[in-house]
Amino acid sequence: MEINCTENELVSIKKVANAAQALGMETYLIGGFVRDKLLGRETKDADFVCVGDGIELAKEVAKQFNPVPQVDVFKNFGTAHIKIQNDFDIEFVGARKESYNFDSRNPDVEPGTIAEDQNRRDFTINALAISLNKNDYGKLIDPFNGVEDLKDKIIRTPLDPLKTFSDDPLRMMRAIRFASQLGFLIEETTWQGIKDSASRIKIISQERITDELNKIILSPKPSIGFDLLYKSGLLKIIFPPMVDLAGAEYIDGKGHKDNFYHTLQVLDNLSANTNDLWLRWAAILHDIAKPVTKKFEEGHGWTFHGHEVVGGRMVPKIFTKLKLPQNEKMRFVRKLVELHLRPISLTKENITDSAIRRLLFDAGEDFDALMMLCDADITSKNKQKVKRFQDNFQMVRQKCKEVEEKDHIRNWQPPISGELIMETFGLSPSREVGQIKDALKDAMLDGEIVNTYEAAYDFMLQKGNELGLKVIKS
Ligand code: ATP
Repeated sequence: MEINCTENELVSIKKVANAAQALGMETYLIGGFVRDKLLGRETKDADFVCVGDGIELAKEVAKQFNPVPQVDVFKNFGTAHIKIQNDFDIEFVGARKESYNFDSRNPDVEPGTIAEDQNRRDFTINALAISLNKNDYGKLIDPFNGVEDLKDKIIRTPLDPLKTFSDDPLRMMRAIRFASQLGFLIEETTWQGIKDSASRIKIISQERITDELNKIILSPKPSIGFDLLYKSGLLKIIFPPMVDLAGAEYIDGKGHKDNFYHTLQVLDNLSANTNDLWLRWAAILHDIAKPVTKKFEEGHGWTFHGHEVVGGRMVPKIFTKLKLPQNEKMRFVRKLVELHLRPISLTKENITDSAIRRLLFDAGEDFDALMMLCDADITSKNKQKVKRFQDNFQMVRQKCKEVEEKDHIRNWQPPISGELIMETFGLSPSREVGQIKDALKDAMLDGEIVNTYEAAYDFMLQKGNELGLKVIKS
């Protein structure tokens, strides 16, 4: 395995080495940067650890650049950051030894040696260091055979897993996140350590848990991470509604699909086509209300009536609980959950232009995202069924394309404004204005009028007349 740095990275590393040597400070490049370089992954920041004061080293490093960059100092943590141009961030910390007490993940920290600093790292693959010291410049320091684990694709704690996870339970989420991001396996005793320590996750703040969860969701095949979260017992603690999806119930020999694994399949299908975190969240939540809406109907089998509406209502609560944003991202996820059955349900009837126009209108600018979700939602072990659904879905897609080209519904703005309605009939803001606007929208979506100003204006006059309004200004 070799390390290939960019010119920009090499220049910065060399400057750190020069500054460290000028101060007589033992210094190493350590952690994620070394790991990712060895794996040939993209890197955007690098951590340096020195035996001494990391802040002092950072200030000395800054002097090596022209112009001198800003040093951001975090005194409480004993760390300092420098942002080098081209998005490269370098961070400095003094080597330390940590000891934990049971109630907190914030350790007591003392200055330590490089070996002690490597001992406090979470995984063997994250404990790799490269010397920047004169006597052994460039030497890889790998006390726990991290390079072997990189080659074998293994996540393993350097020390006793139970102690590692009990000390800082966030490391359990990190282990699963790395397994999902890198497609690595978690070594057996490390995995047992996670299962045995799962309940310790409760001492970790929701923000940090959600941060890791989002990284799992953004990994190439997120089902790897979710399956591990589920099997370790962590998911039950951090996100119980998702665990409620698991399993299949049988009555009179009739079962339904396991909605947990169905959801993971949908998420993986979708993730093959998009890196959008919120669209991926929509996949995770699209069937979230199936457990609470589930019924067995005699002669019919299992039904989940209204799960899209109930699921939509659950979205804000889940976002609050997980400390996800309460903004347009949340509204986007809710909208997709609410609409996720619409395109496919259209195929069960005769597809009318009016139904297509309503779908285009309701989905609006999120139409493409909705169609991606629906496409990903077609899963079944029965290949013929999948083929039939996909063919029907293609038909809806084609029909939507034709209607959109003709009627331009997705970004539809009413050609007649509320102000014009008020001016025409001498109205102040009132119920009638809303009635006319709604009637206008319905007439257009139902194809009673074409989508032009003139047609809309005539319709407004006619509707006003029906409501007994007099034209004041034409
Ligand atoms: P990312 O892919 O998010 O950059 P990373 O692990 O490379 O992941 P950081 O989370 O910034 O980046 O961590 C940098 C290094 O610090 C890690 O490689 C690891 O050595 C160490 N580290 C980070 N978090 C922990 C932790 N909770 N316990 C022990 N060591 C940690």
